[in-house]
Amino acid sequence: MNPFEATNLYIGRASKILDLGDRFERYLIEPEREVSVQVSITRDNGHVYTCRGFRVQHNNARGPYKGGLRFHPTVDIDEARTLASLMTWKTALVDVPFGGGKGGLDCDPKELSEGERERVTRKLVERIHDVIGPHADIPAPDVNTDAQVMAWIMDEYAKLHGFSPAVVTGKPVHLHGSEGREAATGRGVFFATEEYLRSTDQEISGKSFVIQGFGNVGSHAARFFHDAGGRVVAVSDVAGGLVNGDGLDVPRLIEHVAEHRGIAGFDGGDSIDRDDVLLQPCDVLIPAALGNAITDENAADIRARLIVEAANAPTTPAADEILAARGVTVIPDILANAGGVTVSYFEWVQNVQQFRWDIDRIDAELRKRMRSACSKVFEVARRREVDLRTAAFVVGLGRVAKAAVTRGIQ
Ligand code: NAD
Repeated sequence: MNPFEATNLYIGRASKILDLGDRFERYLIEPEREVSVQVSITRDNGHVYTCRGFRVQHNNARGPYKGGLRFHPTVDIDEARTLASLMTWKTALVDVPFGGGKGGLDCDPKELSEGERERVTRKLVERIHDVIGPHADIPAPDVNTDAQVMAWIMDEYAKLHGFSPAVVTGKPVHLHGSEGREAATGRGVFFATEEYLRSTDQEISGKSFVIQGFGNVGSHAARFFHDAGGRVVAVSDVAGGLVNGDGLDVPRLIEHVAEHRGIAGFDGGDSIDRDDVLLQPCDVLIPAALGNAITDENAADIRARLIVEAANAPTTPAADEILAARGVTVIPDILANAGGVTVSYFEWVQNVQQFRWDIDRIDAELRKRMRSACSKVFEVARRREVDLRTAAFVVGLGRVAKAAVTRGIQ
């Protein structure tokens, strides 16, 4: 089953619970628009470099399409479709007035110089500028894209459409970005975990955490768990793993990563194989890298009791079933990592209103929205006697379906 089929399986389950019917289910599954473009630049050495760019606009019943742009060799139309669909349910779940979109470039940014990265970004905007916009489709950072990439998109779009900072979110704070956006997804992962533990009379303090992926989301989440008295006992990145049963010194590890661009060489833990990190004993496992990390091949060996999906689509449906049978709770991606799009919405609001919020307001509003989404999903799971993923899809689908019906599907 490919990732798009997996997402559609969850949509199908929720649609049956809501009794939406086959035709309506198809409307909710099919992306509304898919754009595939050639992106070619001249490299620093004078050679031509060509890659493929994608933008999938899944559903805009509740508002403009919203979702990240990823630069990674595995990016393709199927992945963009899957992630765009997840964005539709995620934006509905945290009740921000957007739909779902996603895209990327199938380049390997490690092979590109800074200048080449800028040129592929600008060329991508040249190709897709007529389908994005502050009230049409608003990209944001994702794997291997950052505030600088968003700044280039804003600048290139402005050349064609005039000053429109709200065309992207995740911009640098000094260039119409928002306080708190960079840490927002990790912070949201923290709030979702805290909320679940609170609902089961537990707390973060004293719990042990394992985090796969130590990029934007993983490193911020690690810091929040550490600051709240949790023990981060193992982490990994693309190059390897690190373990320390007493708890890693997260602030020092973050400094190390900033200096050395990875966790390799950190002296506060023992090196282990990258993929063994997922199997370390802990209370909470946080996949925060790429999709398909937890599959039917490793699900039976996972030793956590709670998995919080910081990454998008990290668990396959087959793994989900194995985990459920073993009594492992999974807080699904569309809920757990929704903090990023929530603060992206705050950034968009600030851009549209040309009025800045301070960090206290951002954090308070984020906490409020994450808490409200979590308690809704937990309540639906209890009432309908379904797992948290199914409950999250039921809430998301219900809101999108209601908006679509009220607007009228012609
Ligand atoms: P990032 O590029 O900043 O970090 C990715 C991290 O994963 C890096 O440390 C990388 O080395 C590591 N990694 C890659 N392959 C790995 C592997 N096989 N094993 C272990 N580590 C591996 O990306 P990010 O922005 O932190 O995004 C991480 C995940 O969170 C993605 O699935 C993304 O879609 C999702 N997400 C991100 C945001 C956001 O705001 N950035 C929002 C929602 C969801």
